[in-house]
Amino acid sequence: MRSWQAALEALRADPCGARLLRAFAAGDGVHLVGGAVRDLLLAREPRELDLVVEGDVDAAAARLGGEVTAHDRFGTVLVRADGCAFDLVRARAESYARPGALPEVRPGTLDEDLQRRDVTINAIALGFDGTLTTVDRALDDLAAGVLRVLHDASFVDDPTRVWRVARYAARLGFGVEERTRSLAAAADPSTVSGDRLGAELRLALREPDPPAAFAAVLDLNPRYLPEGFEPRPAALPAALELLPDDGRPDLLTLAACTAGMDAVALLRWLDDMGFAAPERDLVAAASRFVTGAPLRAARTNAEIARAARGAPAEAVALVGGDNARRWLGELRHVRLEIDGRDLLAAGIPEGPEIGARLARALDRKLDGEASGREEELAAALEDGGGRGRVRS
Ligand code: ATP
Repeated sequence: MRSWQAALEALRADPCGARLLRAFAAGDGVHLVGGAVRDLLLAREPRELDLVVEGDVDAAAARLGGEVTAHDRFGTVLVRADGCAFDLVRARAESYARPGALPEVRPGTLDEDLQRRDVTINAIALGFDGTLTTVDRALDDLAAGVLRVLHDASFVDDPTRVWRVARYAARLGFGVEERTRSLAAAADPSTVSGDRLGAELRLALREPDPPAAFAAVLDLNPRYLPEGFEPRPAALPAALELLPDDGRPDLLTLAACTAGMDAVALLRWLDDMGFAAPERDLVAAASRFVTGAPLRAARTNAEIARAARGAPAEAVALVGGDNARRWLGELRHVRLEIDGRDLLAAGIPEGPEIGARLARALDRKLDGEASGREEELAAALEDGGGRGRVRS
């Protein structure tokens, strides 16, 4: 673990960190807090720069320069300046009216602000002279790689913290302290809304190693994921490797993990977790491997296209194998040079026959039997028997 001096140096070396050090001095009541301090001390790249302010947040925001947006009911302020983003929040104390409720918030001291946090390693504040203010054991836990909640009611107040612990365990490779582990095992996710649990799940999907986060949450408490959810599906690494850049690795991952779930239960769970309809449908379709068997059995390019066309790239990637690779890398981009207007001009009547003839021409093109406008048109207009005969 780094010293505070080294952490401050790393902050200074970062253009956004340097801006902070120019704007604030010791005694201003402004501290860097949370994940950024943790990551600086661990010699990792900080992801977000969160500041806690004892005093006037707007005045502190103004000192940073840039564009200021107020962005939540707790008086949080976002400042954007020269490609940097800073989240400023008034130091606060929190209490929870009932398990899983959103907290009631009042202005507080820096110490109180640290006490409301999730785990010790996130409850460290760095002053701009290098002073570290922490909850008990925070620095020891950071050095030892331990995740520990701050008090016994932590998961009762906010059961989403089990997800947070799982994500940090996966990302940082930290262990979970024994007492925290038994409190997590007793946590009750049903006291929070599906939307909030879904938000945590979506954050897990954006981690560098989502299966590690899923395995960690299941290890802490199996009630955080539905029956049949497989945290480390064997097909996932190859499928991710096949997924084109315009695909959604997060949804592919979720589809792979939920392939063993009952179809109705899966749809209900995705709805409950607050997925939008297009995402829900994509995950459901991909997790069912709808195109699987015909795509694997396809022997020609045209057969591959018939099996894969219309399926999301995520579904095809999950099927895997050479046919999926060929479809995603090459065949799905093949287009005809002709279109329906060419067939109308050639005297084919408007109606389904146009589509059928175009499909036949595309099959020929995919199989290397027609290339260029003339040959495509000939393939589309051809009548008579043989492969791809158009019935009317
Ligand atoms: P990441 O690296 O994932 O961004 P982070 O620690 O910055 O990690 P955020 O979700 O951005 O995580 O939250 C910022 C800080 O706010 C955390 O470090 C933690 O101290 C506190 N925090 C966030 N969510 C909770 C929560 N549910 N309960 C208690 N403290 C929380």
